[in-house]
Parts: sequence; C-alpha cells; structure tokens
Amino acid sequence: MAKMYYNGDANAEYLNGKKVAVIGYGSQGHAHALNMRDSGVDVVIGLRKGKSWEKAAEDGFQVYTVGEATAQADVVMILLPDELQPKVYKEEIEPNLTSQALMFAHGFNIHFNQIVPPKECDVLLVAPKGPGHLVRRTYEQDAGVPALFAVYQDVTGEAQELALAYAKAIGALRAGALETTFKEETETDLFGEQAVLCGGLTSLVKAGFETLTEAGYQPELAYFECLHELKLIVDLMYEGGLEGMRYSISDTAQWGDFVSGPRVVDARVKEEMKAVLKDIQEGKFAKGWILENQANRPVFNAVNQRENEHPIEQVGRELRKMMPFVNSSKKKEVAVSAN
Ligand code: NDP
Ligand code: MG
Ligand code: MG
Repeated sequence: MAKMYYNGDANAEYLNGKKVAVIGYGSQGHAHALNMRDSGVDVVIGLRKGKSWEKAAEDGFQVYTVGEATAQADVVMILLPDELQPKVYKEEIEPNLTSQALMFAHGFNIHFNQIVPPKECDVLLVAPKGPGHLVRRTYEQDAGVPALFAVYQDVTGEAQELALAYAKAIGALRAGALETTFKEETETDLFGEQAVLCGGLTSLVKAGFETLTEAGYQPELAYFECLHELKLIVDLMYEGGLEGMRYSISDTAQWGDFVSGPRVVDARVKEEMKAVLKDIQEGKFAKGWILENQANRPVFNAVNQRENEHPIEQVGRELRKMMPFVNSSKKKEVAVSAN
C-alpha cells in the first residue's frame, strides 16, 4: 500500500515567515489562496487585469502582476490553465526567478518539457484530487480533499517538507496525501480523464442513448436511463466501490451487469485503452494538444460545437428545465472535477 501522509506528518511552522505567490485565481487558485490565508500563511496573488483580479481584490488579497508577485515570493504556485502556463512562465515568471520554490498542481508542463525550470529552484507539485470549489468548501467544513504530492527538483533538501506544509495549509492533509512523481501524476491524470472519466464515459453514454433512440424508444427515456441515473450509480461507487453499488441495485441489474458489461467493454476496448496510454506515455497526445493550441484550437472548437448539438444535449436541456432540483449553478464545479 502507498503511504498516506496526514497533518501530523507536516511541519506546521515551515511556511512561517515565507511568502507564497499564488499565480491565478480560478478554480484551484482561489481555493488554495483562501485556505492558506485561513491557515495563517502570508499569501499574495499574481494575475493580469480582469475578472479574477477583481475577485481576488474583493476577497481582500493584495494582487500584483505575475512578475511582481513572483519577484517578492519565496514560493510560487502556478495555477494558470495548463495550456497558457508555458507562455506566462517564459515572459513573466522566469525573468523574476532567483531561488524561489516553483510549485504546480499538475505535472504536464514540467513532464513534457514545456516549462524548463532553472537549476536553482526546488520544483514540486501538490495536486488536490478534486475541483477547487470542493477544496474550499471542505476546508471550511474542517475537512479536506485528498491530494498527490511530488518532488521534481530538490535543491534545498526541503522540497518534501514544503510540499507537506503546503498540502497541510490547503487542508489536504486532513484527508491524506500520497507521494508520486511528476511522470506518474501526469500520465495517470491524462489516462483517467481520457479513457474513463471524461472520454470513456461520454462515449459510453452517447452510444447507449443512440442505441435506444435508433431502436425507436423515446429520447426522454433514453436520456434518463443512460445519463441522468448515472449520478446515483456513481455516488454509490464513490461510497462503497463496485461492491457497495451492486449491493444497492436490484439482482436483475446486477446479473445484467455481469453478463452484458464485459460484452460492451470487451478485450478490444482494453486494447484501445492500452494504445491511448501508450500515446500519453510517448508524448504523442501532449504534442497534439500543444500544436492544437498553437493553431488556435480548430479541431477542439469544431468538435465542441458538434458535440453540443448532439440529440442527447438537446433533449437534456429541455428535461433539466423541468427538474429544478438539478442545480445548474454547480456546472463549472462539476465540469472541472476531472481537471
Ligand atoms: P482556471 O481556468 O480555473 O483559472 C485560471 C486562472 O488563471 C484565472 O484566474 C485566470 O484569470 C488566470 N489567468 C489566465 N491567463 C492568465 C494570464 N495570461 N496571466 C495571468 N493570469 C491568467 O484554472 P484551474 O484552477 O482549473 O487550473 C489551474 C491548475 O490547477 C492547472 O494546472 C490544472 O491542471 C490544475 N488542477 C485543476 C483542477 C481543477 O479541478 N480545476 C484539479 C487539480 C489540478 P482571468 O480571470 O484573468 O482569466
Ligand atoms: Mg433501471
Ligand atoms: Mg487533468
């Protein structure tokens, strides 16, 4: 079993007298900054002028440009969108680095060499395994979201101590943190979201919906069976694993699970998953995504538009209007939960 680290494993004083610059004030940024401030850490925010700047200032933070925040800090946590990080790093962070510790919440840019950190800096990551709004909400409830931490470069010999102190300050050690590497965090994160959480799931849902509607069943029923009810099943899996979920469903559903599940997700699907993993490991996925961004996202935008017009989305929009208990203000939070 992997070792879990809890509050008692961190040196609470480590961040005393140190200044942390949180770069970005979005999903993760606002949660890290607020939690750390409540934990007594000296936090400043680095941003460009705009919506987040106003929000951070409203929340009572001192907000600076990215360069100014970097220059005055001991620890720089980069919480910008991954695809924008290399440019902002090159233009605004790197010129202001001396020996600050550089931190990330996802290993992509370091692992795939989009950011090459100076030899003088500790480089580490603390990645909460949940969306920022949950990181904040659980902290306020005296709980936390579990996290991964990893050390990529340890110049001071204190990188792990910093990772744990940081994880503690954002509340993650109340739930526990696991040690990993930038490579493992990046590859498993990408694989999980592509093969299972986002890509696998949306394709499974759409295929089920299409199968029912093409066979002449009402789209509303197909929507309920193939999408809406997922939440109940996922909540049960979250609480009790596959066994806990199967305990709650009917024996008929469980028998259908056993005989039909492996027919749908068969050996060929697993072979394809292995190919997806290989593309991630060999940098092929990363290269495609980097080039797609450099080209201004032509494929991303085209597919996104087509997907939003799928019949399951059209029927879903209408049905959700009739279900006020489905709270769409949580959309962003749910949307980013697989980051
Ligand atoms: P968001 O998109 O929510 O926030 C991005 C922030 O960066 C905003 O405050 C935005 O401000 C700011 N920003 C964008 N461009 C610039 C710029 N050029 N200069 C200065 N500030 C800028 O990001 P996330 O919180 O989702 O992601 C941050 C990191 O956390 C990523 O590495 C991600 O992989 C990781 N992560 C995310 C998780 C999640 O659930 N979201 C979970 C775990 C890790 P503005 O308002 O001006 O646009
Ligand atoms: Mg049923
Ligand atoms: Mg991710």
